[in-house]
Amino acid sequence: MRKSLLSHVKRVVVKIGSGVISDREGLASAQLSAISSDICHLLDRGLEVILVSSGAVAAGKGGLDLAEWPQTIPQKQAAAAIGQTLIIHEYQKTFHASNHKVAQVLLTRDDLSNRRRYLNARNTVMTLLEYGVTPIVNENDTVVVEEIRFGDNDNLSAQVTNLVDADMLIILSDVDGLYDSNPAENPQAQLIPIVERVTPAIEAMGGKSSSNVGTGGMSTKLKAAKRASLSGVGTLIVNGRSENILSRVFAGEDIGTYFLPAQSRLTARKHWIAFSKKPRGKLLIDSGGQNAVIKHGKSLLPAGICGVDGGFERGDAVRLCDLDGEEFARGVISYSLTETLQIMGKQCDEIEPILGYKYRDEVVCRDNLVLSTDDNGSEEEED
Ligand code: GLU
Repeated sequence: MRKSLLSHVKRVVVKIGSGVISDREGLASAQLSAISSDICHLLDRGLEVILVSSGAVAAGKGGLDLAEWPQTIPQKQAAAAIGQTLIIHEYQKTFHASNHKVAQVLLTRDDLSNRRRYLNARNTVMTLLEYGVTPIVNENDTVVVEEIRFGDNDNLSAQVTNLVDADMLIILSDVDGLYDSNPAENPQAQLIPIVERVTPAIEAMGGKSSSNVGTGGMSTKLKAAKRASLSGVGTLIVNGRSENILSRVFAGEDIGTYFLPAQSRLTARKHWIAFSKKPRGKLLIDSGGQNAVIKHGKSLLPAGICGVDGGFERGDAVRLCDLDGEEFARGVISYSLTETLQIMGKQCDEIEPILGYKYRDEVVCRDNLVLSTDDNGSEEEED
């Protein structure tokens, strides 16, 4: 069963959690090099791998002589600056020993939110792959502040999966997969081998993070799996501390939890709108506008807009909300806030007389719009 699910996989994103390659002392070099060798075996079999590796803060905290886990943001950023060089150095050593090359790619959320920078990052990573170099991605922890953070590398790995058109996402965790209850508390807890869809019931099984390093827990992994699934990609969560785990996965062993890709996938651009682009405002839409968008698959016209909130520019992402403020869709807007305020509630043929010009009839064009019932699960806050 597993073998057939993986038979089409050529390009895979492997996310390595801090808990897998670090311990109380800092970087767990032996563990990191064991995983690297395992990845090199996949490369030797002709797979393309993009690594998303955490561990910078965990590896660097020793360099600050801190007894405790860094608490303040400057401490975490300083630790990441120290640790990032250490982890890349270790990866480089083991990859070189197997005649493979690596490159470091550090991203912030802003890099993927801006379409031009997103496409640039994509070009770089694609070029590296073309030259047989394995990109090792991490969040650029030393420069990010809260509002431009991905927040956790599980989220980053799902966005990278979409960025590079990967066929699969593998999340190496410090647990064996998703259990129906917390295995640390319940000895009867059962591992769930396959998840068809990340429903609220599945999300409830994720609970809270059990690991004390890294920023995610099972719940961020489930979100990542949901997002990857919407790019038409399956996600596997397995225990990165088990020996040769990746080779075993590709040998078809039935291990970990596999999340099936969604039946109706979002195109890469719509996935980007739903997950990578940060919304900058909100439009309140009347019932006619909601019907047109939700039931009839139409674009949003100015007539349906009855309220506006936020400081968006033309080309920004906005939330489309019902009159209670509940988001039902998200899209890229063709007009700025000032323009939208003038044309809202009006007919299309009034746009030009009001503004003196018209970009188009649609305020949010259907091609740039994703419905919340596409189950995109986007929960990002606005700027
Ligand atoms: N970027 C952080 C690091 O390298 C990890 C974030 C996470 O654990 O999700 O330490």
